[in-house]
Amino acid sequence: MVRSRRVVLPGEERAAAVVVRDGTILAVVAYDADVDCVDDVDLGDVALLPGIVDTHVHINEPGRTEWEGFATATRAAAAGGVTTLIDMPLNSLPPTTDAAALAVKRDAARGAVFVDVGFWGGAVPGNVADLRPLHDDGVFGFKCFASDSGVPEFPPLDEPGMQAAFAEIAAVDGLVIVHAEDPAVLTDPTGGDYAAFLASRPPSAERRAVERVIALAEQTGVRAHVLHLSAADCLAPLADARARGVRVTAETCPHYLTLTADDVPGPAGTAFKCCPPIRDGANRDALWRGLAGGVISCVVTDHSPSTPELKRGDFATAWGGVASLQLGLSAVWTEARARGHALTDVTAWMAANTADLAGLTGRKGRIAPGHDADLVAFDPDAAFTVDPGALHHRHPITPYAARTLTGRATRTWLRGTPIGARPHGTLLCR
Ligand SMILES: [Zn+2]
Repeated sequence: MVRSRRVVLPGEERAAAVVVRDGTILAVVAYDADVDCVDDVDLGDVALLPGIVDTHVHINEPGRTEWEGFATATRAAAAGGVTTLIDMPLNSLPPTTDAAALAVKRDAARGAVFVDVGFWGGAVPGNVADLRPLHDDGVFGFKCFASDSGVPEFPPLDEPGMQAAFAEIAAVDGLVIVHAEDPAVLTDPTGGDYAAFLASRPPSAERRAVERVIALAEQTGVRAHVLHLSAADCLAPLADARARGVRVTAETCPHYLTLTADDVPGPAGTAFKCCPPIRDGANRDALWRGLAGGVISCVVTDHSPSTPELKRGDFATAWGGVASLQLGLSAVWTEARARGHALTDVTAWMAANTADLAGLTGRKGRIAPGHDADLVAFDPDAAFTVDPGALHHRHPITPYAARTLTGRATRTWLRGTPIGARPHGTLLCR
């Protein structure tokens, strides 16, 4: 049993006690309830949250394990309050684009994960026939790119390719998740500084791709999800589509919500490089309005590290990807609280809604009877300065270095058992 004066339940925060048996939440009872149990933890004023469900993580193992691996990533996840993550189908080798590659992924992850891990499949040119077998094997949905992915073995889909993939995924009532930037709008940066990089990936690139996703979702009836939304210009077409009943959702990331282009510390600040890019402060404020209004439903890290060598250079050449798996919850809470949001909002965006997106409703993402007892003790007032050397992910690179964040996970339970020195995560199927 875990007691707290601040248990964050769906839509409300109150003093309560969470009773756990055999890894599952049995009941939520009064804070001072007298229950006979083997282990009785009282967190006092430290909050108790559902474990964060991060549906956008690049682990890169096998094949690019020197970038990031299952053990390091999931240890970082656990330290940051994430108890479930869904791994992206790239940049590992092979990419997860057929059932054999999924088996390779699972073999690499088995016995190595500190949190529960599921897998996305990939939709690439020529693999329409592989989508149904992947779906049957338990992937949570399919990722595709409208523009270059950054790795040659995971090419983007052109218009007919996207149409065919969407139709096939609709036929199994699956979920397609899209990196939405229109390659016809993107340009090569004319220089290595951040302004040139930002100018090479304008909001219109996202908007045009998002409009295409909406049109294809409407045409095929597929459930579609826009990944890592950065440009607030996309909020209006998304809101319109949702009002028309199109099955389209969107996520954004901690870095788009908490950082701005002005935070980038010159050409050497490539820890901030990601695609789509981090934009200006007015855009960031508009994303917060999109979250508050429900047009954006999920916040996920898009943790996508590489080796330090690939992250060097300038904004034209460095790897695009932000490493933040251990810091996402703290970063979002820091900014959310300053903007008047409650822990119930943050856990909706980062646990309940992401669980729903992946089809884990009833199992993950909420403190409620019948759910897995994935729990996080979170001190909402604890301030700390980010020391990259103290992060568990493979390479100590993060744009949050030296920033002061408020709120940190202090203990984490996975299916009722404290996450400790030995990995006891399981591999999830849809
Ligand atoms: Zn990504």
